[in-house]
Amino acid sequence: MNNLTSLKCFKMFLCILKDITDKKELYEKLESVMKKMTLMKKLVKRKVIAIDIISHDILNQVTSIKNYIQLLKEFKLEENVKKILRRIDKYVDRIVEILHNSIRLAKLYSIDEFQKVEMNLYELVSSAIYSLETKARKKNIKIKNLIDRNLLVNVNPIFINVIENLLDNAIKYSYENSHVIIEAEELNGKVRIKVKDYGVGIPDEYKKKIFERFERYSKEGIKGTGLGLAIVKRIVELHNGEVWVEDNKPRGSIFVVEIPKK
Ligand code: ADP
Repeated sequence: MNNLTSLKCFKMFLCILKDITDKKELYEKLESVMKKMTLMKKLVKRKVIAIDIISHDILNQVTSIKNYIQLLKEFKLEENVKKILRRIDKYVDRIVEILHNSIRLAKLYSIDEFQKVEMNLYELVSSAIYSLETKARKKNIKIKNLIDRNLLVNVNPIFINVIENLLDNAIKYSYENSHVIIEAEELNGKVRIKVKDYGVGIPDEYKKKIFERFERYSKEGIKGTGLGLAIVKRIVELHNGEVWVEDNKPRGSIFVVEIPKK
């Protein structure tokens, strides 16, 4: 081997060595990322279990408080005491709702994907409307299901929570004697579902924030946990979809959910 050839060989050897070193570095980096991800998954699971245990413990205590409130209500009480009891009862209900929603959200964060089945969207929405009928009737709000009766979507049955939450909010943040429309269209392999209300609307600076946990905008006099839209967002994410809110002209909001058809 002459000098030139041995130099070339040496250079090649260096290149291969560098390549191997690069690959080794890359491999080590990947391995450390994988380790971190496994650890994160374990932590999330532990967190979910912890939340589950704590929430159930608190729920048991809260149920006892609720029973005592019912017991007290049976006594002859002055009107102002009754009023305070009613308030306490409402706060207890809110705690229960927050606990249930926290458990639900924590569980949704602990999974990466869902099993999906083909479902009829019109029927799914009809069931959601049915479960909210009493609430809507109280405010004389009519919910119109304008979805094509043959439209099929590929979703997990939990997807009904998305529709229920959005309709529940549409009723909550609408004025009495108004209406809510739910419609859907297919475009570019996606299904776009719209929930339109004619209520209080949402200022631009809140349009993104409200999808985060505990972010509330119009709180005055309206009960809520600030977790509903975070749950909606997570379920939509698990369907590889997107959710956002737009203004409904001249008044109210349109919540848009877009999920892949398949
Ligand atoms: P909450 O329990 O407070 O309703 P959500 O997470 O469901 O919690 O909603 C977060 C916030 O987004 C609400 O507090 C409200 O300010 C706003 N919001 C949600 N839906 C509507 C709507 N249809 N119209 C106006 N504001 C809404």
